[in-house]
Amino acid sequence: MNLNAAKSKTAVIALGGNAITLPGQEDTIANQFANTRSSLDGIVELARDGYHLVVSHGNGPQVGNCLLRVELARGKAPILPLGVLVADTEGGMGYMIEQSLQNRLKLEGINRPVVTIITQMLVDEHDPAVKNPTKYIGQFYTEDEAKIFTETRDWQMKPDGNRGWRRVVPSPIPITAIEAETIKKLVDSGTIVIAGGGGGIPVYIDQRGLLEGMDAVIDKDLGSAVLAKEIGAGILSILTSVDNVAVNYGKPDQKILEQVTLAELKRYYAEGHFPPGSMGPKIHAAIKFLEDGGEMVTITSFQNARRAVVGEAGTRIVPD
Ligand code: ADP
Ligand code: MG
Repeated sequence: MNLNAAKSKTAVIALGGNAITLPGQEDTIANQFANTRSSLDGIVELARDGYHLVVSHGNGPQVGNCLLRVELARGKAPILPLGVLVADTEGGMGYMIEQSLQNRLKLEGINRPVVTIITQMLVDEHDPAVKNPTKYIGQFYTEDEAKIFTETRDWQMKPDGNRGWRRVVPSPIPITAIEAETIKKLVDSGTIVIAGGGGGIPVYIDQRGLLEGMDAVIDKDLGSAVLAKEIGAGILSILTSVDNVAVNYGKPDQKILEQVTLAELKRYYAEGHFPPGSMGPKIHAAIKFLEDGGEMVTITSFQNARRAVVGEAGTRIVPD
């Protein structure tokens, strides 16, 4: 394969949480593997078409399980900081995706290497989000427990709706993937790289100029957009649980979007069609990627990954 793959044939595919853990389904590793396998159809089709690919993925439910394990093992096994837990999920989920993809490619006679890269994502220690943590993680606690943990554990806690108190951590803006150059070399040479899982492990540069982990999480859609720009991908493909982005979503006058320009999308975004906890971050990532020189963003379901890229399904967002 040619070094420096064509931009228009290089894509970052961001897998949503449903790729691995389905809401309402018993969360076992057997189910996680089965879901992973069935989410790969579109990716395999793109690989067959010769696309150069990075696969990124969410890790919300998995990192939640890791946090629970740390709590249950308190006093018996060492406490693990959030950054290490994100790294653990990048490894564990990376393994599941990597092996599932290797097996699928083998069965289909497609000869492409697959590798997982543990990815650190640089953030600014002075990002305003660091002083104003908003991202809820882990279990629910009572107000009394929350008071104790705030004093004894270096945790910040806030009420999450009326369901109880939870730990909150910052979600700073990702700046650059530390491993981007290596990922780009591998992708250019035809290797399918699984990278940027969970948005990447948040790190900052300390006073000595060295990398240091931060107790934070990075939005996986935004992290994927940064990675896509840095490896010179033309396409950012965000795969989730719906076939299309819609305006007036879930309302009687809902209208699905097929092809929209960046300007149109920004207008819909400003009109409030995309909520912060779900479609909002994907739209934010799409805008950022196209403003940074990306050629196309697709948002669709797993099965439609290839069809969306060639304009036969899903929502496609293109520069103005
Ligand atoms: P993921 O795990 O893939 O990141 P999210 O649950 O965060 O998935 O976001 C996808 C969800 O966003 C869809 O399942 C859908 O219910 C919801 N959604 C909210 N607003 C819209 C919209 N305007 N158009 C389409 N889907 C939307
Ligand atoms: Mg999401």
